[in-house]
Amino acid sequence: MKMNLYGINDERLVRPLQLIADLFYEECEVQWADETTEEMDFSITVDIQREKTGFQVDVILKNHKSGTKQTESSARDWPSQDLSDKDAFKLIKREISRCFLKTLQTETGIVQKWGFLTGIRPTKLLHKEMQNGTPIQQAHQKLKEEYMIQDEKIDLMQQIVERQLAMIPDLYSLKNEVSIYIGIPFCPTKCAYCTFPAYAINGKQGKVDSFLGGLHFEIRKIGAWLKEKGINITTIYYGGGTPTSITAEEMDLLYEEMYTSFPDVKNVREITVEAGRPDTITPAKLEVLNKWNIDRISINPQSYTQETLKAIGRHHTVEETIEKFWIAREHGMKNINMDLIIGLPGEGTAELAHSLEETEKLMPESLTVHTLSFKRASEMTRHKSRYKVADRPEVERMMDMASEWTKEHGYVPYYLYRQKNILGNLENVGYAFPGQESLYNIMIMEEMQTIIGLGCGASSKFVHPETGKITRFANPKDPKSYNEGFEHYTDEKIKILEELFSSVPAKK
Ligand code: SF4
Repeated sequence: MKMNLYGINDERLVRPLQLIADLFYEECEVQWADETTEEMDFSITVDIQREKTGFQVDVILKNHKSGTKQTESSARDWPSQDLSDKDAFKLIKREISRCFLKTLQTETGIVQKWGFLTGIRPTKLLHKEMQNGTPIQQAHQKLKEEYMIQDEKIDLMQQIVERQLAMIPDLYSLKNEVSIYIGIPFCPTKCAYCTFPAYAINGKQGKVDSFLGGLHFEIRKIGAWLKEKGINITTIYYGGGTPTSITAEEMDLLYEEMYTSFPDVKNVREITVEAGRPDTITPAKLEVLNKWNIDRISINPQSYTQETLKAIGRHHTVEETIEKFWIAREHGMKNINMDLIIGLPGEGTAELAHSLEETEKLMPESLTVHTLSFKRASEMTRHKSRYKVADRPEVERMMDMASEWTKEHGYVPYYLYRQKNILGNLENVGYAFPGQESLYNIMIMEEMQTIIGLGCGASSKFVHPETGKITRFANPKDPKSYNEGFEHYTDEKIKILEELFSSVPAKK
């Protein structure tokens, strides 16, 4: 589908309009046009009138197939007379976006609950207002006016921000500490929707050995640097891949390295190991976790319908998930997270109801509800026609079901993020029993401190302790490149860290 854009010749506006069009239509391309351009499915005409005291924008959306036409206008005063060009452009862009969203909502009958907010971390906006001391009602009003976010989503954001601050009261002052992410890029088999660095482990022991050699090196070097600078670690998270796809002995050596090399691991607030795939969990591995005082793990059913698991390439059974959950409990795992995905192929409200019934028998401390997203590189996206997924209203009903179910069962929402190409333009929400929320998930979502990524596919996010400016650095995704270059990647990270923390006085 194509949308011709008339009336404006500022290329900075094409991308925002494209992102809004994407909220309503799959594979819709917004393109510049003039009178000579061939007529397409839609046309958008934007008119901007600038005056001394204010401006007006008019947006007309025409559907050339149905012949319908939607018109929206907005007039605003300039907030001050000496506005920079950049700030004036921002205001105009916002009004055009608002008008464009309204025309599309009328045209399609779809109301976007997140308005035209297309960013992935909505709660960051609310935290920012709170840090600036904006009264809550005023902050909510701002979100409503600036992005057209609906009350339901603003309430969700408020609940989440409150839970985060209850769990981490010093959230706004943890900039001088860091969290650590450790990526283990192996899995028993590769799932169809997966774009994580995950390589089937079978027959790859050589690769695993060299990878672990590199990872131990990174832990030692970064640990030594943190000790030297007196920088504490807030949380540590093992993800991947599946960190429990390596052997119990390899896990044991890795955690020993962590305790030896990192500063003050006993006082790290939380260590999580994703045991995502139930087929990797064994009593021996649980004993290793216990030995090193790691009691927060993730066991991810995704769905409790066997045919779904088969369709998405997860080669484990529903029974195995349940069995491994109880084995983990028996081995002292006190904080278990389970992930469910809404909208997996062939699934609708009936399958979700079944998954929630099964969850009720286990009652994990936290439940993360993802909405399926068609990520560009996944096998599912490459062969989209093979996978039949629920339509937008059904996906919305499923999200509501999950939200009601968690509320009835004593869970509270504590983090959320959105993705591109997510079904129904919804969100992923982490729920937990109050007091059992994952601190790492809060740290990664709210971007309040540096997260150093070690291992394969681990990306580091450096947050400047004073300015909050974010710099990213990614380790390679495939074990081969990692094995060849881990020393270089470690050095690069240390260089960035040196610069970042140069103004922070070292602790005695
Ligand atoms: S278990 Fe997770 S990381 Fe591994 S292939 Fe499946 S989705 Fe990807």
